[in-house]
Amino acid sequence: MIIIRSGQTVERGNLVSRVASSSLYKILSQISDQSFDPDLIFSAFRKEIPAFVDEYSIVLLKASIYEPVRRSIRMNVTDIELYNAHVENDTNSIELEFKIVNGGKVVITTVMSPNSIWTEEAKEDNYVLSRLIFLLVGRAKTTMSLKNIMFTDRLTGISNEASLGQFMNKAISMGVFANYCSNFVNIKNMKVINSRYSDSIGNVILTGYAQKLSAFAEERGNGIAARLGGDNFLVFIEADKENEFLEFIKDIHILYTSCDDVPVKVDSRVGYYFIKKGDGLNDVMSNADIACKLARNDTYPDYVMFEPSMMIHTLKMKQLEQNIPDAIKNREFVVYYQPKADISEEGNYKTNGAEALVRWGKDGELIPPGEFIPALEKSGLVSLIDYYVLEQVCVDITKWISMGLKPVKVSSNFSRRHLHDAMFADKVEAIIKKHNVDPSLIEIEITESYEAEDMEALKRFEQRMHLLGVELSVDDFGSGFSSIRMIKNIVSDTIKIDKSIIDGVGDNGSEDIIISHIISMINSLGKKIVAEGVETEKQAKFLRMNNCMNIQGFLYARPCAEEIFVNYLK
Ligand code: C2E
Ligand code: MG
Ligand code: MG
Repeated sequence: MIIIRSGQTVERGNLVSRVASSSLYKILSQISDQSFDPDLIFSAFRKEIPAFVDEYSIVLLKASIYEPVRRSIRMNVTDIELYNAHVENDTNSIELEFKIVNGGKVVITTVMSPNSIWTEEAKEDNYVLSRLIFLLVGRAKTTMSLKNIMFTDRLTGISNEASLGQFMNKAISMGVFANYCSNFVNIKNMKVINSRYSDSIGNVILTGYAQKLSAFAEERGNGIAARLGGDNFLVFIEADKENEFLEFIKDIHILYTSCDDVPVKVDSRVGYYFIKKGDGLNDVMSNADIACKLARNDTYPDYVMFEPSMMIHTLKMKQLEQNIPDAIKNREFVVYYQPKADISEEGNYKTNGAEALVRWGKDGELIPPGEFIPALEKSGLVSLIDYYVLEQVCVDITKWISMGLKPVKVSSNFSRRHLHDAMFADKVEAIIKKHNVDPSLIEIEITESYEAEDMEALKRFEQRMHLLGVELSVDDFGSGFSSIRMIKNIVSDTIKIDKSIIDGVGDNGSEDIIISHIISMINSLGKKIVAEGVETEKQAKFLRMNNCMNIQGFLYARPCAEEIFVNYLK
């Protein structure tokens, strides 16, 4: 039972000594930085403030500086779920919004009474107080009966896979299974959220998100949402609610505020499957999963409906994984080239480089790298392809020279995984020397990363490449967690600004201001810049005006086969 009582008054000093002494605050922040384990937090609090925590109850006192409780509430902890936690900067209040399972919601607002002074210390107290309630609700929820635990996801409090299975079996036995649609949902920007805010806040955001999915599934979809682990969920709802669900999931914001005081936008990917008569549990889960795997791919939209042809695709991927060496031997991988252009002269763009981009030719179809590289990255097999592509680039450069053409610098993509291979630089060097190619015609592209280990390894790799005369380029800058501060730490000759950033430029919005600063900073650090994914003249004009003279994008040229690319060299 949670008892949150209002009406009792304690003096501020009293409250501070009992709830929010600064040492207690330290404990809290320590724990919350490490993990969001309610048990751990509960025991720490129990030690510090036994008067406030009585096994499963919280007594929240109304203090003279606060008016913490707008309504007095008595309810069972199993009946409530935290929905949102939100800090209002204007009013210095913290709102904890709880959903009551049987309907309705309760908002607990901790605010200062109008005639008090809102000191930093008081703000801290208020924060601690809200966190306390929040954490204890989490704890109380995890100590629900064992049966509930078995069917509840421990982190988020929503259903788990076991509960989902139970729900689906019931739908089968009632003969209504085929009325449902199954959605495999994945959080697209979970990594960014975790690195931006910390893993523990990431968990809070994940929880808020999970609870929104669950509320939708239960209240509007007559179904269930279960966490399958990590940032993956299965949402099982009535088929005629699918469109509504896809609209709903496009715009989920979580109002847990800690650093920035802005609601965090959670982006989703969904693979969905309309269940047919005769389907079993496994078909339903795996079909939605297959569609979601494709949604992870850049060449697909974020919301993908399952189609039977996708099974063939998945099968091909499995075959590829087992047979990469064969696929390489059979020359199934084809290297395409996308020209890069100098745009300094309006209306007269000139090819000044190219990027080698791999494709997999299978059964008369050219499969783009986004569909197989990510899967191969996991297994490490991607390295075979990367060396193969570099080798092909060397062969092609030699060929162009023998044709009397003047080659341009060609960049080849390498997965970050190579950085942890002690032989990486040796292997690159061996390939270039084997083909006797001028190293200044080769550039290595590696995707941005700010993990300290990667940065160190990158630094060592860069030194080796410079000795050899090969340049380095950081790919997809701005797509992950990059900040302006980090630009100066980047070791590379070139920074490629990601398409996702370039997409927004040229409209005189705030994006333009930020990008123009990024460009000028990269310029003043003496590094080269390439803007990726430039599609419009408007973007090119903006880039030119802001001193970014190198682009790669459909505006100038799409990736093309080698036979076509030679025309750009002529
Ligand atoms: P990337 O290295 O950032 O390559 C640029 C991608 O953006 C290419 O996609 C290119 O076709 C696409 N692109 C360029 N300009 C535009 C534009 O104006 N609009 C749009 N919509 N797209 C544009 P692609 O060829 O599908 O390659 C995707 C990713 O696959 C590459 O991104 C790279 O990360 C990876 N990749 C490609 N080849 C290799 C390889 O040999 N090894 C490794 N490890 N990764 C590779
Ligand atoms: Mg690249
Ligand atoms: Mg890129």
